[in-house]
Amino acid sequence: MDFIDLAAQQARIRDKIEENIRAVLDHGQYIMGPEVGRLEKRLGEYVGVKHAISCSSGTDALLMALMAFDVRPGDVIFTTPFTFIATAEVISLLGATPVFVDVDPKTFNLDPDRLEVAIRALKARDSSSYPLPITHTPSPVTPRGIIAVDLFGQPADYDKINDIAKRYGLFVLEDAAQSFGAEYNTKKACSLSEITCTSFFPAKPLGCYGDGGMCFTNDDRLADAMRSVRVHGKGSDKYDNVRIGMNGRLDTLQAAVLLAKFEIFPEEIELRQQVANRYTRLLSKSTSLVLPYIPKRSKSAWAQYTVLSESEHHRNEIMAKLKNSGIPSAVYYPKPLHLQSAFKGLGYKQGDFPISEECSRRIFSLPMHPYLAQEEQEKISRIIVPQIT
Ligand SMILES: *Cc1c(COP(=O)(O)O)cnc(C)c1O
Repeated sequence: MDFIDLAAQQARIRDKIEENIRAVLDHGQYIMGPEVGRLEKRLGEYVGVKHAISCSSGTDALLMALMAFDVRPGDVIFTTPFTFIATAEVISLLGATPVFVDVDPKTFNLDPDRLEVAIRALKARDSSSYPLPITHTPSPVTPRGIIAVDLFGQPADYDKINDIAKRYGLFVLEDAAQSFGAEYNTKKACSLSEITCTSFFPAKPLGCYGDGGMCFTNDDRLADAMRSVRVHGKGSDKYDNVRIGMNGRLDTLQAAVLLAKFEIFPEEIELRQQVANRYTRLLSKSTSLVLPYIPKRSKSAWAQYTVLSESEHHRNEIMAKLKNSGIPSAVYYPKPLHLQSAFKGLGYKQGDFPISEECSRRIFSLPMHPYLAQEEQEKISRIIVPQIT
């Protein structure tokens, strides 16, 4: 059994993928070919945002967004420690400082109440009211923005987060790497903040056959800045450089693959929902697992089906049993970012973000993809909950 079965999807649309790749080989425009613009138009319409700017990965999408916001050393960006490293890595890469805020224990997303406490603590430079990082800049740090993450496919609480951001004059960046296709109050993920970023890494809900990503915004000025950053800070052309940028383009071949995959994507989101519903029905017989909590306002893209066990020991026991039956499972994430060596310089310590730490000990994810069969799910569930017959 596969954790994510990309072969089943490919078998369905192999002809279309080959046809699209062949078209690129025929026209030969490997960089910024017509497929790139076509994909941007299609995905921009799908999420309901004016500008869609494709790029080389989800990480580069976040980097381009922060560069468009002109994030620099001395700036502070609030974000969650319970995410993939890329979310906070890009903050440090620009010389700015990530300030971590613990997550909501039910959704695993940035907790808006704690966010406000952290913003106030930072402004007052009072680390007794919330854990703050050590900063090495001589001048006062400037709170600039928030990166909220839609973990496992479920959007963060943007009504509250955007409202807090407005009151404190901060920008909001939605890290929608895991939530393309999700919804929040009937709006699509990737439309929920000033700039939003997604990833087309093969294992994400919409994945290509390599690396890829996209930024979305309704703001003309930010869109121009991201298009400039994407090609070495170009001005009127690539040899007129008006800012420091990067090489952040999406390959035409990856756009061609994505165009083929996007044709069945809305249907796949429905299939993911059915698979998730089946898991929840089967596993509801368990008295020891906490199943995913999705508030009524949201629809998850189900990048992962993730549950909480009773303890680290309990989790390891279940994962070992699954493994013995040839069933893969995974832990996202075994170590919260504030405890990663890479962020040692921030001076955070064990106990600073107890909910993230507790989740990292108890959480695990089950095989999840649109083509997971009912029998497979029944087999998985019987191993986890032997009472199921
Ligand atoms: C995957 C992921 C990224 C990075 O995307 P890449 O395309 O792998 O660079 C960023 N943030 C989150 C939350 C992710 O899951």
